[in-house]
Amino acid sequence: MEHYNIPYGKQNITEADIRAVVNALKSDYLTQGPQILEFEQKFAEYIGCKYAVAVSNGTAALHLSSLALNVRPDDKVITTPITFAASANCVRYCEGEVLFADIDANTYLIDYESVKNIIEKDTAREIVGLVLVDFAGRAVDLEKFKELANQYGLWIIEDACHSPGGYFVDNNGEKQNCGNGNFADLAVFSFHPVKHIACGEGGMITTNDKKLYERLLQLRTHGITRNKDLFSNNPAFASAVQTEEYPGWYMEMQSLGYNYRLTDFQAALGISQLSRADEGITKRRSIAEKYNQAFTGKPFIKGQSGVIKGHAYHLYIIEVEDRFGLYNFLRSKNIFAQIHYIPCHLMPYYKQFGWKEGDFPYAENYYKHCISLPMYPTLTDEEQQYLIEVINSYYSQKI
Ligand SMILES: *Cc1c(COP(=O)(O)O)cnc(C)c1O
Repeated sequence: MEHYNIPYGKQNITEADIRAVVNALKSDYLTQGPQILEFEQKFAEYIGCKYAVAVSNGTAALHLSSLALNVRPDDKVITTPITFAASANCVRYCEGEVLFADIDANTYLIDYESVKNIIEKDTAREIVGLVLVDFAGRAVDLEKFKELANQYGLWIIEDACHSPGGYFVDNNGEKQNCGNGNFADLAVFSFHPVKHIACGEGGMITTNDKKLYERLLQLRTHGITRNKDLFSNNPAFASAVQTEEYPGWYMEMQSLGYNYRLTDFQAALGISQLSRADEGITKRRSIAEKYNQAFTGKPFIKGQSGVIKGHAYHLYIIEVEDRFGLYNFLRSKNIFAQIHYIPCHLMPYYKQFGWKEGDFPYAENYYKHCISLPMYPTLTDEEQQYLIEVINSYYSQKI
């Protein structure tokens, strides 16, 4: 059994993916070509939102989202400590202040009551928005948070990097896809190889708001626009045909943007991967089901999610006794489970703002026990059976 080498997450590249990338490389455009719009339109259709903007990675998607929503120095934004640091960092890029809230011990998602308490104490009204993370692929109940956000005039960014294909069920019993823009102002996705859809590096922002969509398109490419309806120097230009004063090459840089573009060969890979996204989710759910069956009721399990409707299973997390021992035992068997995440507020960078151990008891307790088991569509039944047996054997040794 020593030939196994099982990571916690992995991309799935097919011959069709390779052909798609090669075709893009042979085309006229390596970047700023037709694959980008096609990827955006297909992704928007998959998610069920109006607009999508492809960018160079998920972190760029978060940065542009903060810029588009106008985060300014000292604006306060609430997020969860149990996330990848980028969910919080995007606020710091704009010199805003990050406020963390504790998690719900059962869902591992940001806790509604904690968020509500923080907002109610903010009498100076410095809080401007919420970055809500569909952690591990489980959808945040955005309907509930949207009500709260409306009451206080806050915006919502949904960090859906873990949850393309996930959904929650709203109060009317309707499925609400992660990132569909019905509740959050903007949602962000990542196409890093461990995520559901791989582009190498890549990201997407989705929204139903046309103004935000147009701002994002500009910010992605240096703040430049060639859309004459948006020109501000020369309002008359909109109606003018080409003249020497308003020539064909005219464009405006209207804000301080970046180069956060995705390339066409990455978008071609994304389009090809997207066509198999539903298959991937189905496989992830069946892997989760098998884990649920294997571990339900085991004495070493401290907490476990069970069957969760709409979960996109980017990660399959269990909480266990002796996590340190299990992690190392798995490594000795070439099973590379991971820990998601060391709480953000305990990172040296965030500690400088005064955050410390004890601030978020549920998040910190979760972190002491959590371990993410291998979860990716090409994980075979044999591999999964092997690693379940390894885990069981670790704990039976100890009894
Ligand atoms: C992966 C990830 C990001 C960042 O995406 P990149 O493409 O790696 O920049 C942001 N938030 C969460 C929750 C993620 O998992």
